[in-house]
Amino acid sequence: MAVAKTDSSTRVRIFSSEDALLKQARAIHERVITLDTHIDFAPGDLVGEQNYTQRLDTQFNLPNMIDGGLDGLFFVVYVGQTRETQNPEALKTQGYERAYRAAVEKFDAVHRFTRDIAPDKIELALNVADVHRINLQGKKIALIGVENGYPLGEDIARVKEFYDRGARYLSLAHNGHNQLADSHTGERDGWKWNGLSPLGKQVIGEMNRLGIMVDVSHASKESVMQTARLSKAPLIASHSAVRALCDVSRNLDDEQLLALKQTGGVLQVVAYGGFVKTRKPDSPDRAAALAALRRTFDLANPNDPRERGRFHAALKQLSDNQRAEYETKLAEIDTEHPGDPPAAVKDFIDHIDYAVNLIGVDHVGISSDFDGGGGIIGWNDAGETFNVTLELVRRGYTEAQIEKLWSGNLLRVMDEVERIARNLQK
Ligand SMILES: [Zn+2]
Repeated sequence: MAVAKTDSSTRVRIFSSEDALLKQARAIHERVITLDTHIDFAPGDLVGEQNYTQRLDTQFNLPNMIDGGLDGLFFVVYVGQTRETQNPEALKTQGYERAYRAAVEKFDAVHRFTRDIAPDKIELALNVADVHRINLQGKKIALIGVENGYPLGEDIARVKEFYDRGARYLSLAHNGHNQLADSHTGERDGWKWNGLSPLGKQVIGEMNRLGIMVDVSHASKESVMQTARLSKAPLIASHSAVRALCDVSRNLDDEQLLALKQTGGVLQVVAYGGFVKTRKPDSPDRAAALAALRRTFDLANPNDPRERGRFHAALKQLSDNQRAEYETKLAEIDTEHPGDPPAAVKDFIDHIDYAVNLIGVDHVGISSDFDGGGGIIGWNDAGETFNVTLELVRRGYTEAQIEKLWSGNLLRVMDEVERIARNLQK
C-alpha cells in the first residue's frame, strides 16, 4: 500500500498573502467531498415539528451544513449502555429490548427525514456509488452508523437486520462493557471479557460477511487489538483521537493506530475538546469567578459535555444588552484569572499531523461528534466546517491529501469492506 510520508520540509508552502491562501482553501473545500463520520441526533430533531431543515440550537442542522460546505455525514444510531452495576437486567432480554427499540426509532427517524421531510436536500447513501451519485446531484449525503452493538442483544440475525436498515458501520461498544466487548472504561472499572466476547467475535464475522465497517471507537485496547487480528476487512475508528497527544482512554495509542493501519483502516480524528486537549484545571479563583458569572446569567456549565447544549441555547436567549454585559465580565475574568484555553482547530489538526506522520495520510480522516459532546473553538458547529480545510491548507497539505482526509480514505475503506463482503458471500 502506498503510504505518503509527509514532513514539514515538503509540506511547507509559502503563500503570497492570507488572501491567496483563503482563496485556495475555499476552492479545495468546494471541490472535495467533505464527510463527517460521527454526528449524534435526537429523533425529534429529525422528524419533529422543529427539525433539522431549520436552524435549530444544535451544532448540526441542514442550514449549518450548507453554510459550512459540509457535503455528507453519518447520522449515528446511538444507544447508551446500561451498566450491569446499575441494572442487573442490562445484559438480559429486558435491557436488550429497550435498547433495540431505541435504535429502531433512530433508524426510522433518518429514513423519514431523508425520504419524507427533506428529500430535495438530502438523500440516504447505502454504498460508495450512492455517495458519488448524490453528490453529483447537488444534494447532501446521509449515511448511517451505529454506536454501540448493545441493541443487537444476543440475536446474531439482527446484524443483518441493521444492515438492511442502512447501517454501514457499527461500534462494538460504548462507555461500559456490553455483551460483545470490553469498553475503554475498563481502564477505570476493570474488565469483563479481557477483549471480545465469543458473541462479539461472531458479530465481527457477520459484519465482514454483510459489509458493515467495524468501528473500534469506545472499545478497550485489548478489544481493538483482537478485532484487528480477527477482522477480514479494514477497521475504522469513527470518532477517536491520538492518545500520545491527549492521554484519555477514549483515544488510540501508537500501537493501536499501527494495528488499525495494518488492517488498511482509518482513524477518523474527532473534534471533541476533551479528547483533543488535556486542559490544565482552572485555578480556584477562576473557577469561583466563572461559577458566579454563570449564576448571574442563569447559565449551565459549558465544560460539562452534558450541560454544553443547554449553555449554548441559554446564551442565545440572552438579550443583546445581557450578552454584551456577559462578554465584558467574561473578558475581565480572563484578564484577572487567565485559564488554559480550550481546544481549538489548531490543536485538532495537531492530532491529524501526528496520525499522518505515524500511519500515513491514507489512514486518517475527520469527525466532529457534534450534538454528542463534540465541538472545539473554530469548529463548534457544522457551519464552521471550512475552518478545518483552511488550517490543513495553511499547514501545506495538498488538495489530493485533503481529499483523502475529508472522505477519500473512508470511502476507500467502505468500498473495500463491500468488496470483501461480496467475496465472502460467494
Ligand atoms: Zn461516542
